[in-house]
Amino acid sequence: MKEEKTSYRGRLAPTPSGHLHLGHGQTFQVADQRCREAGGTLVLRIEDLDPQRSKPEYLDAALEDFSWMGLAWQEGPCFQSQRRALYIDTWQRLKAADAIYPCMRSRKDVREAASAPHPEDEDPEPIYPPAWRVAPSAAGAYADPVGANWRFRVPDGAAIRFSDGRLGEQVFVAGEDFGDFVVWRRDDVPAYELAVVVDDIAMGITEVVRGEDLLCSTARQILVYQALQEKVPLFFHTPLVRDADGIRLAKRHDALAMKSLREAGLTFAEALERLDPGHSGL
Ligand code: GLU
Repeated sequence: MKEEKTSYRGRLAPTPSGHLHLGHGQTFQVADQRCREAGGTLVLRIEDLDPQRSKPEYLDAALEDFSWMGLAWQEGPCFQSQRRALYIDTWQRLKAADAIYPCMRSRKDVREAASAPHPEDEDPEPIYPPAWRVAPSAAGAYADPVGANWRFRVPDGAAIRFSDGRLGEQVFVAGEDFGDFVVWRRDDVPAYELAVVVDDIAMGITEVVRGEDLLCSTARQILVYQALQEKVPLFFHTPLVRDADGIRLAKRHDALAMKSLREAGLTFAEALERLDPGHSGL
């Protein structure tokens, strides 16, 4: 029987700035499974925007990881590094909507001026001091984003709600859980929060599957969708994977890098079993 494609569109969005670990693997596996179950289309998008941190060898390793995991996608790969015109266009739209402003403060300035909202959070990005906000009219002097950090002005006190496919109702409060966030970096790189929304819209993604460490980012991104008057997709956040000592995996955690595990001769399923049995909340 011919398989009917539904309108579900998902994506795999690796960042080739280090070797992917089992936590990434689990997220990609869930993304693949959910898309398959829905009879949808999976897009591979390489998030290689940061020219300093993205390396071809990490991309090669990620593609080998994917074949080791048995992942298959129907569209892509497409590369964020080749999509600048789209990001510029969205920067213009956000500027025209008075949603963003130029900011000359460095990350270090912000770190020194503010303490992290909840230091135990997965997202310890300090809150940008509201006193440092710049009137949106300052943006008028810029024909392009070059020369400043650009921040999204968040609606202080507004609750951002979404229903996560795994975790249920989520609520974040702008100005408390996170502050004005960067959408374009002073070194002229579009920031993650902007690029990911632009691409998820352009690619018609209907459900975003990503790690739970990005829950707060999802709330920020919902504000970007709203400023652009675009439809917000569904979200499914996967549990964080910890090693046997309970430490959350990071790209520098080489022992649980998928590359090391496959080179040690393990299958992906065997590698997952090696983790602390409580690793997965799925
Ligand atoms: N590229 C991001 C990462 O590797 C994932 C982005 C996303 O799922 O939105 O963490």
